[in-house]
Amino acid sequence: MSQPIALLSVYDKTGLLDFAKGLSSAGVRLLGSGGTAKKIREAGISIEDVSDITKAPEMLGGRVKTLHPAVHGGILARSIPSDEQDLATQGIAPISIVVCNLYPFTSTISQPNCTLADAVEEIDIGGVTLLRAAAKNHARVSVISDPADYTEFLDAWKSGNGDVGQNLRSKLALKAFEMTAQYDEAISGYFREQYASAELPKDKLAGAVQRIALRYGANPHQKPAQAFAILCGSPGYINLLDALNSYALVKELEEALGLPAAASFKHVSPAGVAVGIELNETEKKVYGVDDLKEALTPLACAYARARGADRMSSFGDFIGLSAPCDLATAKIISREVSDGIIAPGYSPEALDVLSKKKGGKYCVLEIDPAYVPEDVETKQVYGVHLQQRRNSAKIDAALFNNIVTQSKGLPKEALTDLILATLALKYTQSNSVAYAKNGAIIGLGAGQQSRIHCTRLAGGKADLWWLRHHPRVLALPFKKGVKRAEKANAIDLFVSGEVLEGGEKAQWEGMFDGAVEALGTQEKTEWAAQLDGVSCSSDAFFPFADNVHRARKSGVRYLAAPSGSVMDEECVKAADEHGIVFAHTTLRLFHH
Ligand code: 5GP
Repeated sequence: MSQPIALLSVYDKTGLLDFAKGLSSAGVRLLGSGGTAKKIREAGISIEDVSDITKAPEMLGGRVKTLHPAVHGGILARSIPSDEQDLATQGIAPISIVVCNLYPFTSTISQPNCTLADAVEEIDIGGVTLLRAAAKNHARVSVISDPADYTEFLDAWKSGNGDVGQNLRSKLALKAFEMTAQYDEAISGYFREQYASAELPKDKLAGAVQRIALRYGANPHQKPAQAFAILCGSPGYINLLDALNSYALVKELEEALGLPAAASFKHVSPAGVAVGIELNETEKKVYGVDDLKEALTPLACAYARARGADRMSSFGDFIGLSAPCDLATAKIISREVSDGIIAPGYSPEALDVLSKKKGGKYCVLEIDPAYVPEDVETKQVYGVHLQQRRNSAKIDAALFNNIVTQSKGLPKEALTDLILATLALKYTQSNSVAYAKNGAIIGLGAGQQSRIHCTRLAGGKADLWWLRHHPRVLALPFKKGVKRAEKANAIDLFVSGEVLEGGEKAQWEGMFDGAVEALGTQEKTEWAAQLDGVSCSSDAFFPFADNVHRARKSGVRYLAAPSGSVMDEECVKAADEHGIVFAHTTLRLFHH
C-alpha cells in the first residue's frame, strides 16, 4: 500500500507541530499550504508544499492556494476502480487526512475598525472547500477541523495501524459540516447587515447561528440593528427564550432603578432577579460568595443576590446582566452550574473565565445595548401566527401611587422592591406572584393556574430563603470537599424539614462532621416572626383575601396588585387587619 498522505492547511496553528510530528513519525507523508508548511518545516519536520503536487504556485495574494484538481481529486476520489483509474491517469495521489481550520471571519468583523474590504478578504474559500470535500468523502478520508481533536486522532491512527475507523471519521465529518455551516451563517449575517436587503429567515433564530441580524432597526429607514453575537457555545431554543427575556428584564430594571441588574432564568421565568445593592456579611454567607477573592462589584452583588434567592431553581440557569460582565461577576458564575449568559459586553478577563467554562461550551451571548426590538411580536402556535404589540408598559414609582389601605407609608426601599417585583412579573410565565426584599426577588411563584397557589409557592420560597439566614444553617458543619450544588440541596432539605429515611438520610448525614439536629417547629416559628418589610406584587388582581393573609405570613408589609376583583374590598380589609400598605395598580401583566 502506498504511503498515506495528510494535507495540512490551518490558520490557527495551535498544537500543529506536535500533531505534524506525530503524523510524520507514524509514517504519514505531509503536504502543507504556504504558511502551514513553512512553520512545520522550520521545526525540522519534513513536509512538502502543496505547490509541489499542483505544479502551480499560490497566487492572487493567497486567494488561491489549494484549489486544484491534484488536491481535490486526491481528496474526493472513492475507493472504486473508476476513481482509482482516473487518479492514475492524471498522476494524482489519494489524500487520506485533511487538517484544516479557517480564516477568523467572526473575530475580524467584530473589530471596531473592520471595513467591508477587510471582511471580504477574511472569507476563506479554499479551506471551506477542503473541509467540505474531505467531510463529503468521510467513507475514506478523515477531516480534522479542530486542534482539540489532534490527540484523539493520533492515538486512534496509531492503535488502528493507519485506520481510525468509520465511527471517528463520521464524527469528524459532522464537526466539519457544522463548522462550515456556522462560518456561512456568519458571512451571510454580516452581509445581511451591510446590504439590508435580505429578509431574516423566519425560523432561523434557534439554529446554530453566529450573529443574528434584524431586518431593520427602530424604523424601516434605519440601518439594521444587530441583536446579538454568539461569543462562545451554541444556544438552544430555550436558551434563546431565556436570554432574550432575561435581558429585556434587566435592561428595564436598570433603567427604572439606576442600578446594575442581574437575572437568573430557568424555563422562561426568572428564578432570581436583583439589583446591585451591597451585601452584608451574613448575606455574603447565605449567597455563598463570602470566600470570593475578588471584591464584589455592584454587578457581582446583583448576580450573587439573583443566584442566591433560590439556589435550587437556579441550578443550570441562563443569566442576564444589564451591564458589561466584569471579572468578579464572571468568577461567581464560573463556580456555579449554569447554561449561559447574555450581557451587553464582557471585560477581556471576564470573557477569558467564561469561555473556559463547561470545557469551552458555555454559551456566551453579547447583545447590542443599542438594539431596539420591533413594536409587534409574532409567535406561531400549532401553525397559526399570533401577533400582539410588545408589552411596553412603564413600571415606575407612579404605578404605586394609589394606596388603598389605612397604612400609607411606602419607604424608598419598599418602592424599589415593588418596582423590582412587578418588573420581574412582566417577564414571568403567568399566573405569577413575587416577593422581594433588599433589592432582590426572594420568592417567585410562576406558571400556576390559580392565584393562591402562586402566592403560597412564592411565600414558601421566601420562607426558605429567610430560614437560610438562620444562624444554625450558617453554622452547618459541612465536611471538606462537599460540592456547592450538594450543599445547596442539603440546606434545602434542612430548612424545608423534609423527613429523610434510609439511604437518603445516611447520605445527608454523611455530608457533615458530627450529628446535626433538625430545626424545631418553635425555632422555625420564632425565626419566621422576625421577617418583616417584605414587598409583594401580583400580575393580576387577588380574587380572594386568602392571598393577602398568606402574604403576611412571609413578612409582607407592602403589597401591589391591580384592582378589579369583586373581592377588592375584602382584600383591602385583610391588608388593614395586618397593617399592610396596599397599592392598587392599573396594570395587569400576564406573560406567555
Ligand atoms: P497558510 O497559513 O498555510 O498559508 O494558510 C492556511 C489557511 O489558508 C487556512 O485557514 C485555510 O483554510 C486557508 N486556505 C487553504 N486553501 C486556500 C485557498 O485556496 N484559498 C484561500 N483563500 N484560502 C485557503
